[in-house]
Amino acid sequence: MKKVVKFGGSSLASAEQFRKAGSIIRNDSARRYVVPSAPGKRNPEDIKVTDLLYQCYKQAILHDDSEHDFEELLEKIKERYQEIIDGLKLDLSLEGEFRIIRENFTKKAGRDYAASRGEYLNGIIMAAYLGYEFIDAAEVIRFGENKEFDAEKTNEILTERLKHTEKAVIPGFYGASEGGKIVTFSRGGSDITGSLVARAVQADTYENWTDVSGFLIADPRIIPNARSIEVITYRELRELSYMGATVLHEDAIFPVRREGIPINIRNTNAPEEEGTWIVESTCQKSRYIITGIAGKRGFCSVNIEKDMMNSEIGFGRKVLQAFEDQGISFEHVPSGIDTMTVFVHQDEFMDKEQKVASAIHRLAGPDAIEIESDLALVAVVGRGMKSTRGTAGRIFSALAHKNVNVRMIDQGSSELNIIIGVSDSDFEKAIQAIYEIFVEVQL
Ligand code: ADP
Ligand code: ASP
Ligand code: MG
Repeated sequence: MKKVVKFGGSSLASAEQFRKAGSIIRNDSARRYVVPSAPGKRNPEDIKVTDLLYQCYKQAILHDDSEHDFEELLEKIKERYQEIIDGLKLDLSLEGEFRIIRENFTKKAGRDYAASRGEYLNGIIMAAYLGYEFIDAAEVIRFGENKEFDAEKTNEILTERLKHTEKAVIPGFYGASEGGKIVTFSRGGSDITGSLVARAVQADTYENWTDVSGFLIADPRIIPNARSIEVITYRELRELSYMGATVLHEDAIFPVRREGIPINIRNTNAPEEEGTWIVESTCQKSRYIITGIAGKRGFCSVNIEKDMMNSEIGFGRKVLQAFEDQGISFEHVPSGIDTMTVFVHQDEFMDKEQKVASAIHRLAGPDAIEIESDLALVAVVGRGMKSTRGTAGRIFSALAHKNVNVRMIDQGSSELNIIIGVSDSDFEKAIQAIYEIFVEVQL
């Protein structure tokens, strides 16, 4: 058995958290490949090391009078690591590493280089703590010269490097170009590294250890005691992640998906719990009709009216052309006999709204255009919805009962999700109402 275990920032934020991770790893000899993140928040007010590094680098590349701030911040970061080393009673010094980092910061080694040091240093500590080999991700995770990730080359190098390596720690989040320039994934990218390692070693499971007991039916910041999902498919997960449930980096799915390796999301603070299994397909029904709820704020809707527009060939294309010409992508386009509504991201759209409106007039000649802002989208996702009648009806009555006005509804053709548009001020209330009706009042 081979397992790849990735630990998130809060799971490695202090010596105490390191000890929890260590005992999880030692508890199962299959946990042979460890991917650590940088130390995260120890409490809600704390700052992640990655954010400190970004700040510190910003100071370092500014003019000279900020040099003092840069030194001070770097010292603060060093202290965070030293606290972990002392707490674990390790015979390890990062003095030499910090000297190099300081030098490279002054040489302006790059923002990605700066951020990557969070994972790099935590990896060194983790390897020393476990007695595992340390492999610098710069040697095995490959990016092209334009910072684009090279999946195949990475898999080739990683497979070869890990073939005869019994146990290793590979820091998450970064890699390097062939020339050695450090490049990071986008934020939360250690999840991707874990998935790449799992693919390369053909792991039986990719365990992703975090601070919640799996993927929860709804965001715990909105539903405080949300229940966890037992089994979720990759497709359902993708829908939920896209709509804001970012427990796992979106791109972390692809490397393991193609190999059929399941992901198990677990809680470092409650290792006895099974967590969530993310699989390709399952005959297991979810406990509730829906699998999960997620949502995003910050949308605008552009409502276009024209009598009998549904019989005018090319009308939709002309309207969308107006958005395309301004480089704006759309989220949803529900339509009726005389109306068509285009949902767009408010921050992308705001500055260009009048240009888009006049282009729609010019291209499609509508009777009226109405723009509405501050909308939110809520996605209700579930493989079980296809075979259950009345799901949409239940959603509406739950929302009506809570006085939430529904501005839009869109059911994907796969019947895997229903998207509802509500006003921003009703966002949390809408999620609570849907959670209540499907999970708490399970009929
Ligand atoms: P890590 O640092 O371990 O990678 P993240 O902060 O990236 O962890 O992801 C876990 C966090 O995601 C949780 O603490 C929680 O606040 C948030 N979250 C948002 N939506 C959900 C959800 N549906 N289920 C679980 N966690 C969620
Ligand atoms: N440390 C990085 C971040 O904060 C990567 C990660 O945690 O996955 O985004
Ligand atoms: Mg994360």
